[in-house]
Amino acid sequence: MRTPLVAANWKMNGSREFAEQFFAAFDMSGVGCQVVVCPPFPYLPLVADKVGSGVSVGAQNLSQEASGAYTGEVSAAMLLDWGVDYAIVGHSERRSLYGESSELVAQKFVAAQSAGLIPILCVGETLAERESGRTLEVIAAQLQAVTDVAEGDIWAHAVIAYEPVWAIGTGKTATPEQAQEVHRFIRERLGEAGAPVRILYGGSVKAGNAEALFAQADIDGALVGGASLDAEEFARICRAA
Ligand code: PEP
Repeated sequence: MRTPLVAANWKMNGSREFAEQFFAAFDMSGVGCQVVVCPPFPYLPLVADKVGSGVSVGAQNLSQEASGAYTGEVSAAMLLDWGVDYAIVGHSERRSLYGESSELVAQKFVAAQSAGLIPILCVGETLAERESGRTLEVIAAQLQAVTDVAEGDIWAHAVIAYEPVWAIGTGKTATPEQAQEVHRFIRERLGEAGAPVRILYGGSVKAGNAEALFAQADIDGALVGGASLDAEEFARICRAA
């Protein structure tokens, strides 16, 4: 019922040459899931030109504002102009390095969705929050911030990524059971609207651990950072979904 989705988050990595080489090496044969590639802003048009059928383009961030005197910002409408379909909002690096609150993330979610982009909403707990038994409380609050401001059937056109902060870029992956527990919790929190929502896992996903994660009932794909910079490994992750 839910088409699996695997998204590449290149973060602030790559170059024109890298993007050319990535798509020359990226082999979609045997890939049955939906694939989204999220490069840095300047490479969005290049990636939009490169992607073939079955691959969509995503941005890693966007402004909550529609237009105006916001130096350095990029609006949802501009992303649509570039052929972008998805936008990551609330990545833990944006939350921790750039001070993005759950309220701001919710505004970005609304800006993306109102313009016609599909937000990929990232939620996740820190190690301290997990160790103090607050994981589900933190996830619930991050979801609540969005439902407080977004209106209508918001989950029909959204993707959620559960990304435990302690697993991002650290080589430590949540066990499939740890991830499944949170994914199920998220789906249950969404109530009836939750059944069709794709909930991705993110945090040191690699070709070697993808299959076990994807075997869990509520894990519908992955948001992949480091391993998405290697076209062959990323294709292997996509094939596992
Ligand atoms: C991410 O950036 O969303 C991520 C999950 O990174 P990594 O796969 O490198 O842990």
